Amino acid sequence: MPLWGVSKEAAVGSAALGLALAAGYLAGRRCHSTFDYGTHKGRNSPLQQYVLDHSLREHPSLKKLRLLTLDLPQGGMLVCSDQAQLMANLARLIKAKKVLEIGVFTGYNTINMALVLPEDGQVVACDISEDFARIGKPVWKEAGVEHKIDLRIKPANQTLDELIASGEAGTFDFAFIDADKESYNDYYEKCLRLIRKGGIIAIDNVLWHGRVLNPGKDDLETQSLHQLNEKIFRDPRVNISMVPMGDGVTFAFKL
Ligand code: CA
Repeated sequence: MPLWGVSKEAAVGSAALGLALAAGYLAGRRCHSTFDYGTHKGRNSPLQQYVLDHSLREHPSLKKLRLLTLDLPQGGMLVCSDQAQLMANLARLIKAKKVLEIGVFTGYNTINMALVLPEDGQVVACDISEDFARIGKPVWKEAGVEHKIDLRIKPANQTLDELIASGEAGTFDFAFIDADKESYNDYYEKCLRLIRKGGIIAIDNVLWHGRVLNPGKDDLETQSLHQLNEKIFRDPRVNISMVPMGDGVTFAFKL
């Protein structure tokens, strides 16, 4: 088994996943990573904890929102902190000013991105519901980044179409796609239009807890992710890295 292999447990499905989630919750209240750094004993292995302890520099507001979010029954949807930190570092590296976020949830990554943008930077944050964002909003304010966040509550495809129609194609620097999996291909194509050359699209959950290894006939979410993985692998418009972090994230660098 390769060091970065998906554990059998992760590939089995929801029962094992439930156990892993519970273990992760109790052991450190972190995100639900598919990867266990080779020990195959579930997440938060000592080695994984070591990585987090020696790399994660989480802003106090992010930590506060992470703990708040993990208290929710839907807390498992939270992006992994180490992945968020990598995305922020990449955004900073390319001097990002305009960021797209498809799927906001409580806004952990929204704050994360806004923190590395200049004062006149902007995160266009797309979600179909404000229910979870409302929980995070006081923390957005505390973090001092509320003014950089443009929350748009409607189907993300509609927001992306509106941005394209208003002439904003090629003006965004970074996009994070983390919403309904069956629409991922649409989001990817539209983000690719909205991102400038040299910009980055991060696509979340590309391994879908191992299910991409064997997409079921009726499992449209997994099929959608697998098909997009196949497509991006051959897409001459981008350079790519599929990174085994969190539940797998593909970085597409627009050529
Ligand atoms: Ca996700």
